[in-house]
Amino acid sequence: MDADFDLIVLGAGSGGLAAAKRAVRHGARVAIAEGDRVGGTCVIRGCVPKKLLVYGAQARHQLQDAPSYGLHVEAVRSDVSELLERVRSEVDRLNLRHRQMLSEAGVELLQGWGRFTAPDRIGLSATPGGPIERELGAARILIAVGGQPIRPSIPGAEHTWLSDDMFLQETYPDQVVVVGAGFIACEFACILRGLGVSVTQVVRGSRLLRGFDHELADAVLTGMQDSGIQVLFDRTVHAVDRVSPDDPSAGLTVELSDGRHLPCGGVLMATGRRPRLEGLGLEIAGVAVDRGRVLVDADQATSVPHIHAVGDVTDRINLTPVAIDEGRAYADSVFGGRPRQVNHDLVATAVFSDPELASVGLSEQAAIERFGEEAVTVHRARFRSMSRALPASGHRCLLKLVLQREGGRVLGCHMVGEHAAEIIQMAAIAVGMGATKADFDRTMALHPSVSEEFVTMG
Ligand code: NDP
Repeated sequence: MDADFDLIVLGAGSGGLAAAKRAVRHGARVAIAEGDRVGGTCVIRGCVPKKLLVYGAQARHQLQDAPSYGLHVEAVRSDVSELLERVRSEVDRLNLRHRQMLSEAGVELLQGWGRFTAPDRIGLSATPGGPIERELGAARILIAVGGQPIRPSIPGAEHTWLSDDMFLQETYPDQVVVVGAGFIACEFACILRGLGVSVTQVVRGSRLLRGFDHELADAVLTGMQDSGIQVLFDRTVHAVDRVSPDDPSAGLTVELSDGRHLPCGGVLMATGRRPRLEGLGLEIAGVAVDRGRVLVDADQATSVPHIHAVGDVTDRINLTPVAIDEGRAYADSVFGGRPRQVNHDLVATAVFSDPELASVGLSEQAAIERFGEEAVTVHRARFRSMSRALPASGHRCLLKLVLQREGGRVLGCHMVGEHAAEIIQMAAIAVGMGATKADFDRTMALHPSVSEEFVTMG
């Protein structure tokens, strides 16, 4: 039987959309199956609405600073429900725009939950796992269904929020407990605090942001604590109870491993994400799965030659730009006659906490582990930026270069402070090109700026 399409993509998130549009440009007949809205985690319940909330929290900080610039704003009325509503409207707009872009690109959108019915056939259902309403064949299939947040199984877990739920709330309660120490936990703790919520963060280990440079993570912690977030380390949540079983508005109680009980209006479980594999019929297709993720090689190929996978479903580096590049590399390689592999080294990342953290390359700890203590040197600058001079308050910046002692190659470039993500994005170009400390030093400072410290630090 002739295939209906050259390619069916499962999942219209960042990776799937990028692959589908690029494959069409290479002349392929492409359809993309999506049961939810178009855009994926990033657009609908991740990076985009999160960053809009970050801006919402920052706007409040700017109002607080205003008097130090002679700006006296009387009678400020705060309405978090209006902010959340505006964020949802922007997501609606983007969702529509993504649908239009798909249609303009010539990709057919198959509205429905796709799953394998044979290695080269996809069935579509109106609900996940529901009866198949339509079936289509494709010469190639790309799995790009992303991931989903994990809810730990503790008593009362059903009363807690996942990150997805944070964008659906009418407003936020006065007190929230955030569980976890990763990207999502730190970002939401800061957003909520910035919006005036009293936040307690419960961390099972002894530090925030595992995997990041320790000094940087500590600088974020200090900033978060200074803004009033209570961080409780070395504790887990045993149970979550409703104060009144009949009245959800009466709030919750969080029972900690140390016996404490925290009253609150909501609990965010930010305890990691996992690939969304359930109901895909991977066993029917013969696609190999390892530790809950689709196994792929450097060409995004699964164990079945005509089936590939990109993005969070492969659980490598779970970031939007990485998924996009994987999707495009797949399409260029398979349909464009231009084989290329994605470079997963030196991927810059940012945590949009307050203060913001951004990083490219090796942390001091990772550099020492790889090259040995003697082979690594570190330069750092810690200061309060000029923007904080008149308010005479606010976080301090930390800029840090991790260098190979011999030759001075920059192994890692890290920052906590204002515009960290914007600055590290540009620094990543130099680090990727193999810049040395001497190259940084040779660059004339742009004054006054925060990032000039990267080229003037001793
Ligand atoms: P992370 O993997 O970053 O963090 C998960 C956190 O939950 C860790 O602190 C972990 O602790 C803790 N944890 C796990 N299980 C439990 C448990 N049972 N009880 C208590 N704590 C627990 O996951 P996130 O959900 O924050 O983010 C997922 C991924 O999404 C990120 O890794 C990133 O790839 C992406 N992301 C990127 C963002 C960005 O680019 N700005 C923003 C948001 C997400 P421990 O450290 O001890 O393991």
